[in-house]
Order: sequence, then structure tokens, then C-alpha cells
Amino acid sequence: MRTPIIAGNWKMHKTISETTALARELAALTADAKGVEVVICPPFTALAAAHEAVAGSAVKLGAQNMYWEPKGAFTGEIAPGMLSDAGCQYVIIGHSERRQYFGETDQTVNQKLKAAFANNLIPIICVGETLDQREAGTTEAVVGEQVQAGLAGLTEGQAASLVIAYEPVWAIGTGRTASSDDANSVCRLIRATVAKLFGQASADRVRIQYGGSVKADNIAELMAKSDIDGALVGGASLDAAGFSRIVKF
Ligand code: PEP
Repeated sequence: MRTPIIAGNWKMHKTISETTALARELAALTADAKGVEVVICPPFTALAAAHEAVAGSAVKLGAQNMYWEPKGAFTGEIAPGMLSDAGCQYVIIGHSERRQYFGETDQTVNQKLKAAFANNLIPIICVGETLDQREAGTTEAVVGEQVQAGLAGLTEGQAASLVIAYEPVWAIGTGRTASSDDANSVCRLIRATVAKLFGQASADRVRIQYGGSVKADNIAELMAKSDIDGALVGGASLDAAGFSRIVKF
């Protein structure tokens, strides 16, 4: 059985003191949540504060990005080892905003995935089609290629242990959610792609999240679907009460 995983992507929100308050509130509100893994991904500057705030709770910490090199002259970048050092267990890789605004490609995503595993971080790799691609009927080809190229060269064990977030770009931050059937059918395609590349055992274990305007009032329907194992939540993860309701779907 796959343990559901709900992750909050805080994006470029929250100062250190705001992070401490939100993370503490969330840890308290989700203390009675059972059978679900909860991850928060604050900005880099607030990771250490978040780590301290959730200490002793079941809430885990993730980062929103990283570079693949271990150290060196890469001004402005953050190394995988620095994230582990700050208390992270997870790292989001290839979010569509990073692909769109910061030039990330399937190749950089692949390099980052390998570096994450080399540093004991579990990657949450984001894939998803744009509205134009959906309307052109190329969703399956686009997402299949993102999975294939992003996961290239991983071992079966790595493919089984990572998290794949299916996030249709047109649903992120727009209030438009994919229907639960549409979301599930792309998640099923992703699992079939993992099966083709790494075998059925890896495909059965890999956790696939849906992301895109997830809220307390649509999470239950999404989580009831066969191939959706969790959610990557942006806007709604910034409110402790709302996010804890999502966690307790
Ligand atoms: C996201 O940033 O990954 C996301 C899904 O955002 P939102 O929930 O706000 O659509």
C-alpha cells in the first residue's frame, strides 16, 4: 500500500517569523492525522526555522529547488547537502514555475534528481502540460516524455521511492482544478510509464500526487481515485486551518 503524501509548496511566501508561526500551528492542527505523510516546503531562508518549529511532530520538511553540484562557484545556488543540513527530507524538482521562468529542462531536472538521491533527499518531480498542449491533444505525449527524460538513468529502487506530482500548468494558481477523472487518467499514464521503464514493482510503489488548485473541498474526490496518492498544494498550504483540512481528507 502507498502512504498518501500531502505536500505544501509555500513558493516565495513567508518570512522567518511567519514561517515559525505557520509551521507550529500546522504541526498542532495535524497532530492527530493518521496514515498520511505531511511535508511543508518553505523558502530557503526559512528552512532552519521551520525545522525547529516542527521538531517533535510528524510534519516533514522539503525545499522548493536545489542545484546539482555539491559546492563551488555557483552564486545564488543551494547544494543538496545544504538542504539535508537544514533538515530537509524532500525537495521539489522541476516545478512548472521553474521550467517557465528559470529555464529548467527535463535534462536539468534529471541531473537534480540524481543529485537529490545521492544526498538522501527524496525528490518530488513535477510534470504537467500547458493549456495549449492539452487543447492540442498532446497531454499524454508531453507528460510521458517529461517522466521518461526526467527519470532517465535512475535505478528501480529510486524510481519506486520518489514522488511524482502531476500538475497541469493551467490548473496551478488559477482556481481551475482538473476533474478527478482527468487527473486520475494522467496519473495512471504516469504509473504505466514508470512500469514500462522500471517494472511493475516500482510502478506499484511510486507515489503520484495531483497538484493544481487543490483545496479542502476538492481533496476527498481526488484522493478517492485509484492512481492519486496525494497532493502538492500551493496557495491553500499557506493557511494552517485549510491545509490541515486537506491533510485530513
Ligand atoms: C503548486 O504550486 O504546485 C500548486 C499546485 O499551486 P496551487 O495549489 O496554488 O494551484
